[in-house]
Amino acid sequence: MRLYEYEAKKLFSQFGIPITTGEVVKSDEETKAFAEKLGKPVVLKAQILSGGRGKVGGVKFADSPEEAEQKAGELFATTLKGFPVERILVDEKLKIEKEFYLGITLDRVNYKLVMLACSQGGVEIEEIARKDPGKIKKISVDVDQKFYPFWGNSVAGWLGAEGQGMKAVSKIAVSLFKLFRQYDAKLVEINPLILTKEGKYVAADARMSVDDDALFRHPELAEMGIEKRHEEGEMTEREKLARQWGIPYLDLDGDVGMFPGGAGFGIMGNDFIHYFGGKPANFMDSGGGPTPERLAKMLILLDENPNVKAIFGARFGGISRCDDFAKGVVMFLKEHGLSKPMVLRMTGNVWQEGVRIFKEEKEKNPEMFKNIEIHGIETPIEEISKRAVELAKKV
Ligand code: GDP
Ligand code: MN
Repeated sequence: MRLYEYEAKKLFSQFGIPITTGEVVKSDEETKAFAEKLGKPVVLKAQILSGGRGKVGGVKFADSPEEAEQKAGELFATTLKGFPVERILVDEKLKIEKEFYLGITLDRVNYKLVMLACSQGGVEIEEIARKDPGKIKKISVDVDQKFYPFWGNSVAGWLGAEGQGMKAVSKIAVSLFKLFRQYDAKLVEINPLILTKEGKYVAADARMSVDDDALFRHPELAEMGIEKRHEEGEMTEREKLARQWGIPYLDLDGDVGMFPGGAGFGIMGNDFIHYFGGKPANFMDSGGGPTPERLAKMLILLDENPNVKAIFGARFGGISRCDDFAKGVVMFLKEHGLSKPMVLRMTGNVWQEGVRIFKEEKEKNPEMFKNIEIHGIETPIEEISKRAVELAKKV
């Protein structure tokens, strides 16, 4: 779950990471009132679940309360990166001497946590990683290891901190690590960490993502007003719909719609499609004995996906029953209709009954079945996979 900047900053400040104490506002008037109260130039930051706001006009500066009011009005009227701006964080405008990058994330290849530090901040770290990877310094930490204070000192050294600044940066690095651990984070990032003209280090931006599967361990987040939300910002419209329907579903970049039985079979099916030169349009898990209604919804997701050119259906009835499977497909055909070619294979638990249902329905309404090829145990799964790839290439 990704946090808003202002939410992450709340946690930062609890862990002793210096921030400017701004206020979150929802209207032009509130913006003006807070700027008046502050009595200083302010920075207005659109609160959306995306970074790179600076580049798209999501960060504005104002020297007077009137200017703040006017610029807030402009911000509230925009949609940035697909997010309507509903809240603005109004902060004191810092006078920047230098900007740095400091972050912690998971190193999935080496099964470690990794702290990243860079003496060039404010720009996207991915960009630096591409152009000048040597500039990014790293500290790898085992998942169950503590973060030693002397590592904090190394970070401070890399960022060129001196004297009191050395201590301050070291402490920020240690605290950031504690925060990461405490909240089962996947990512915490300060970009930029600012050295002000007055010689203070301040987190001017805050990004944080908490592992969805660990949220149950953190009821205190809700107590702080940080409501549970899904990573909708990072989901496609179809993935959001699938989530509403309770169907585990991911969009991929191919054109073969995958309608498999169970997660394991789904993974295997994706491998088969690749093996025969095709590309799956999605991953989907249908396991656990889905009802006909649920199966029909799964097919809707595929049939309405413009990227899908053909549908690969492979049902191995284990817990789930092939008669339910056939009923689900028929329900979909009757209520929705199939606009793409589909190749289907059905084996396992009461498959004969499944075949009987299809046969009966087809006799009643052959037109409804014109896009479907139905196979049973006599056709190897390889054949079905090849056929699906072939159908997708034909269209
Ligand atoms: P992002 O673009 O979404 O990552 O938003 P940031 O919060 O990082 O802001 C983008 C840029 O705006 C920063 O890199 C800074 O250069 C600038 N910025 C942000 N806050 C301040 C501030 O308080 N004072 C000044 N002078 N610049 C700021
Ligand atoms: Mn930033």
